[in-house]
Amino acid sequence: MPIAYAKSLIRDVPDFPKPGIIYKDIAPLLQDARAWKIVTDELADAVTEMHASKLLGVESRGFLFAAPIAYNLNKGVVLVRKPGKLPWETVTTEYELEYGTDRIEMHIDALEAGERVVIIDDVLATGGTAEATARLVEAAGGVVAGFVFLIELGGLKGRARLGDRPVFALYTF
Ligand code: AMP
Ligand code: MG
Repeated sequence: MPIAYAKSLIRDVPDFPKPGIIYKDIAPLLQDARAWKIVTDELADAVTEMHASKLLGVESRGFLFAAPIAYNLNKGVVLVRKPGKLPWETVTTEYELEYGTDRIEMHIDALEAGERVVIIDDVLATGGTAEATARLVEAAGGVVAGFVFLIELGGLKGRARLGDRPVFALYTF
């Protein structure tokens, strides 16, 4: 059962980065050549079905999946980053944190008008990051074809914030 084997390599780290959070550490999975390949190929299959021309990776673990999948499927890759990291003119969206707000950015010329993109990240938790990334795509004139995650934390109901667009998660906890 290789997909179950890869799941077993995801490590729970309680109280990181703060008390009450159970951090899903994917480092042991990434370190295992077979597991890393299996999960990346599974996510690539989900991306294929969404019929997009570019993949958006969300800083920074989203990059680890967006880049190899885009390369394999012959698609472009776009970086979604924390404020102040991108050198060119950007579009920015804001989202709520437990205390305060945060922002994410993308280059203003990253997408063609009407271009379909898939948003990729390691974990879907509250959905705040993914929802803000979708607004970023729309502000830049693109269309969100779907979302692909390695892990969904089902109890946090993040999926409900993503509307009726397709959402794929390989593992649910
Ligand atoms: P959210 O916006 O709440 O859906 O959080 C998603 C982002 O935060 C992703 O980019 C994850 O990398 C990170 N994240 C949130 N919760 C966890 C967790 N329990 N374990 C690891 N990463 C997490
Ligand atoms: Mg992240």
